[in-house]
Amino acid sequence: MACGKLPVCGRETCNKKANAMIGTCSYCTLQFCSHHRLPEDHACMGMQRCRQVAFDLNAKTLRSQKCVAAKL
Ligand SMILES: [Zn+2]
Ligand SMILES: [Zn+2]
Repeated sequence: MACGKLPVCGRETCNKKANAMIGTCSYCTLQFCSHHRLPEDHACMGMQRCRQVAFDLNAKTLRSQKCVAAKL
């Protein structure tokens, strides 16, 4: 434990100590310091993927609604 590597912020340009309690990003599961723990603050890859999925789902829903409307 004594020689174990302390977790540092997952943001490449930051070498602050990661906050194990609140610093874990639920989108990309990396650990960050208290300044970079929010997805927007570390250009979260998981968040971008999440948004893309939501966008695709939304587009699909809009298309299917259009289809139903056209039938009626
Ligand atoms: Zn940081
Ligand atoms: Zn993240």
